[in-house]
Amino acid sequence: MNRIIIIFLFVLFLSGCATVPSRVALPTYNISGVTYVSLVSLCESENIAWEYDTFTRTAHLSKGAHKINLMVGESLVIVDDMPQYLKYPVDIYQGTVVIPFKFKEQVLDGLFKERYPQQKITLPLSRIKKIVIDAGHGGKDPGTIGKRGLREKDVNLDVAKRLSKLLRADGIDVVMTRSGDSFISLERRVAIANDSRADLFISIHSNANRVRSLNGLEVYYISPNVSDSKRALYCAQNAVLNLDKSSFAYNPSLNLKATLWDMIHTSNRAESVRLARDVCSAIDNNLNTRVLGIKGAPFYVLKGARMPAILIETGFLSNYQEERLMKNAYYRQQIAESIEQGIQRYVRDFTLMEAAKE
Ligand SMILES: [Zn+2]
Repeated sequence: MNRIIIIFLFVLFLSGCATVPSRVALPTYNISGVTYVSLVSLCESENIAWEYDTFTRTAHLSKGAHKINLMVGESLVIVDDMPQYLKYPVDIYQGTVVIPFKFKEQVLDGLFKERYPQQKITLPLSRIKKIVIDAGHGGKDPGTIGKRGLREKDVNLDVAKRLSKLLRADGIDVVMTRSGDSFISLERRVAIANDSRADLFISIHSNANRVRSLNGLEVYYISPNVSDSKRALYCAQNAVLNLDKSSFAYNPSLNLKATLWDMIHTSNRAESVRLARDVCSAIDNNLNTRVLGIKGAPFYVLKGARMPAILIETGFLSNYQEERLMKNAYYRQQIAESIEQGIQRYVRDFTLMEAAKE
């Protein structure tokens, strides 16, 4: 009898050992001053299922209904279909995939220990703090030129500068892709926007049309008409161009990058449309200018931007009256003020929406 109890206790002891998670400290690595942890050890200690594809150098983590996609060399991770940025990229160290230790705190703890698992993960932007203002054309590229000689690049820069000043007065950090009459390639504009980690991207242009009677203002966002996979692949190729790290030159994982980019664009597109709508309605309220509306178009600068992005065609320089209006500094100021009001409305609504989620 006693022996049975002892065996029973022994079995209990063994099973206890097996179920109590080991509290062994995870091996960490110091890589250029940043604490990294082995992805495999982290997954094992957190009971996360993982797969690693050595060819594409991507890792797929899952636990319950949650999924996380990671990629070596990339600080962007996709958590339940939403993009999140780590401060430092996923890396390879001594032949093993390592991840910044903060990943546990920043992503895992919030994801797997939340009380309401059905609750949606909030967007990475908690507030709009930084905006990129892109004055179209410049330098050797004058853009369109009106009959009275007004050059698009000059109008764009002036409106962009006025808008930047207004936004800075509102306490927003503004990055301008150009602040003088210089030529900046489209690739460079996109890179400036992405490198700055801005929350919004606003490109300022002026219009032209063979139909000279056409006038008014219109706002563009990235076109949903462009085939998603084509667009995503295009963005992925841009992303490769934008990355200065040579490690990407031989990275064959373009398709995964395309998927990541597509996810970002899907969530950004809805925001871009809301921003475009707020800008249009502010213009409509403040000015006599005809608002032609919101349109989708595959503009390069919008395609490559990693944040909600719009392109505003402030008016038609091909229209005689509108060119005269655009020549007037007071009118350009009114345009800038209306755009600022539209942005403010968007920021306010966005902050309210974020607050409601908390
Ligand atoms: Zn233009």
